[in-house]
Amino acid sequence: MERALKPTAKTRALRVRAYAKINLGLEVLGVRADGYHELRTLFQTIDLHDDILIQPRARGLVVRCDDPAVPGDERNLALRAALELQRYAGIERGAEIAITKRIPVGGGLAGGSSDAAAVLMALDRLWGAGLGPAGLHPLARRLGADVPFFLVGGTALGLGRGDEVYPLHRQVRCHAIVIDLQRPVSTSAVFARVDRNLTPHENSNNIFRFVSSDLEGLRAFRILSNELEQAAMEEAPDLVDRAQRIRGILNREGATLASLSGSGSSFFGLFDDGRKAQGAQSALMAAGFIVLRARTVSLGQYRRIWAGSLGRMRARGVGNQSRSRHHGDHGRQGHSRRGRKAKSLRVDRV
Ligand code: ATP
Repeated sequence: MERALKPTAKTRALRVRAYAKINLGLEVLGVRADGYHELRTLFQTIDLHDDILIQPRARGLVVRCDDPAVPGDERNLALRAALELQRYAGIERGAEIAITKRIPVGGGLAGGSSDAAAVLMALDRLWGAGLGPAGLHPLARRLGADVPFFLVGGTALGLGRGDEVYPLHRQVRCHAIVIDLQRPVSTSAVFARVDRNLTPHENSNNIFRFVSSDLEGLRAFRILSNELEQAAMEEAPDLVDRAQRIRGILNREGATLASLSGSGSSFFGLFDDGRKAQGAQSALMAAGFIVLRARTVSLGQYRRIWAGSLGRMRARGVGNQSRSRHHGDHGRQGHSRRGRKAKSLRVDRV
């Protein structure tokens, strides 16, 4: 792991972006002795993001969000992240956190978890705690199973509760559209439904097959599925009809993958071509759906964006957390032909 240089506290405000994730595939393998579900999932960051402005304060922590559906107290995951870091690192200083919400709330896109990880990384810099992604990992796990992924980003394999994150050597690069059904679905309620019908199948290996296949071969995507979808549809039966229509349109318009994200309610489609994505967006909007356009954010892009937001010195460790062993050799990516090619990609269109 690269070691962070000695940190210095930042005195000015930090503006950071908290990116959404989609699950390219999700397998529920069984229930563990500790009651949590054993998952195998493929995470992918996309460039749909919340904006977070963090201003230093002498004392006290405050969070504000422009979306009334998001709590402004300790139920807010971003505020909980700040409190955890304050306690863990013995910091007395405070901060004011202002969130501009763009990621649909309760949509299976992990906006709350991403906000929390973004606040951990930004305050680690602002307060000069110097933990880096590896040091922040235990705090992230305590905040929620999806939070550690956002210390890494890109295309990554999630094992355990989804909190053991392994960045992949091959990164998925494509266009995405996200269908916002404006219908929050409770993740815990979906998992409770999964339990009623769960047949443990630890030998399921579609995600591993996908990982070991050539991700650039589009056919590989066909073996992926989201095993939470049936339970999500039972939890939200009003979505069944819309889900069928969405999938029909996405497939007709040439999506490489059409799926529910996480426990829902957002659906997404992946496209190898911007014109196809545009066609699908138009068709879905004509059918009355709210559609957001995005591109995937690769590991290298995620690192560079965070490096730009935090300042070169500290951000070098982003994605290099000690628990996250590399699947393949992406550590050399910055010097490879692939790495140079990635730099010319226009993903960050804000
Ligand atoms: P999860 O799978 O973690 O439930 P999700 O992607 O379905 O995530 P989120 O938008 O992350 O949905 O959050 C869902 C719940 O978390 C909502 O009830 C919301 O009130 C609460 N919440 C707490 N903090 C935040 C935050 N910063 N942003 C969004 N939601 C938050």
